Amino acid sequence: MKAVRYFGHKDVRIVHDLEKPTPTGDQVLVKIAGAGVCHSDLHIIDEGTIPPGNTFTLGHENAGYIEAVGPNVTGFNTGDAVLVYGPWGCGHCKPCLQSHENYCDHQAEQAYGGGLGLDGGMADYMLVPHSRLLVHIHDLDPVIAAPLTDAALTPYSAIKRSAHKLTPDEFVVVIGVGGLGHIAIQLLKATSGATIIACDVTPEKLEFAKSLGAAYAINSRDADAAEQIKKITGVKKAKVILDFVGATPTVTLGAQVVSLNGDQTIVGLGGANYPFTPGKVTFGVNMSMPYWGSKAELEEVIGLARQGKIHVEIEQFPMDQILEVYDRMRAGKLKGRAVLVP
Ligand code: NAD
Ligand code: ZN
Repeated sequence: MKAVRYFGHKDVRIVHDLEKPTPTGDQVLVKIAGAGVCHSDLHIIDEGTIPPGNTFTLGHENAGYIEAVGPNVTGFNTGDAVLVYGPWGCGHCKPCLQSHENYCDHQAEQAYGGGLGLDGGMADYMLVPHSRLLVHIHDLDPVIAAPLTDAALTPYSAIKRSAHKLTPDEFVVVIGVGGLGHIAIQLLKATSGATIIACDVTPEKLEFAKSLGAAYAINSRDADAAEQIKKITGVKKAKVILDFVGATPTVTLGAQVVSLNGDQTIVGLGGANYPFTPGKVTFGVNMSMPYWGSKAELEEVIGLARQGKIHVEIEQFPMDQILEVYDRMRAGKLKGRAVLVP
């Protein structure tokens, strides 16, 4: 079978001769229908964040149809349309038992999951180690649903942390209107009454943000971006900042516009230095760096998608074009989420 393989720092190749796996025990083989392309792949490829010597199939946003199940599997049958829950924990510790495999106690001792050190879904087939990592998607199209496992689940979980602060009298700033950010705007629209201020760096992305429900859209590279935001919010500033870039300029902008007792939530892995000086930061601010979301939250995300309250804007590509897709992502030239279709 064909797959997009990571061989090391800046070395990604398409291979054609991988053996189609056979599921044993609790394993499930999924015939991939769509594999989302996440910016986290670029952190792995360009920054070499995975230790050398690891070779694996990329793709951690996967959906498809069950091809075969191991003998221990119950509740899933051949032909079922499923999403693969991405952060694979040990399955036994307390966070895992509470559905938070994204915060598994053993995360430091193991690879993070398929496409993140273990074989993922940019391939004809993906072997999922246990059926507990699958979620039924019912009537959703797996090509469109694939990004729900990360591009929607991650912002959904980040927004839930701040749900009590996202009241209709408050302002929320979304920085980065890419794969995650474009769904974050829709999630905020669907689940909160807060006024949405979006930031990105091109006029196209700013227009896109407005079309999705942002009341205001500001170019964060404008020298007076913080002043523009404060003009909108007034003296109280923005109660919640959701930063889907996480680079020093965006984290600095967030710190300038977050309100007293607000939340500055940094989802992007852009390597920022956080301007933290006790006595100089805004009092009461909770700074957090959430990772992905729980499997129970993924069920809730699927509920929102099935109700038509969120929709992933996708651009489809054949697997052979992956290197071109990564280049477009580096240049910020994708609209919404790119999905590879085998
Ligand atoms: P993406 O490439 O689809 O989107 C990034 C967006 O940010 C683009 O629209 C780009 O134009 C915009 N941008 C770039 N620089 C900017 C700046 N200075 N100011 C404002 N906007 C700017 O990326 P994505 O797939 O949505 O991922 C976003 C980030 O989130 C990545 O760093 C990724 O690794 C990270 N991520 C984190 C988690 C987690 O669990 N913490 C999960 C998934 C992705
Ligand atoms: Zn991701």
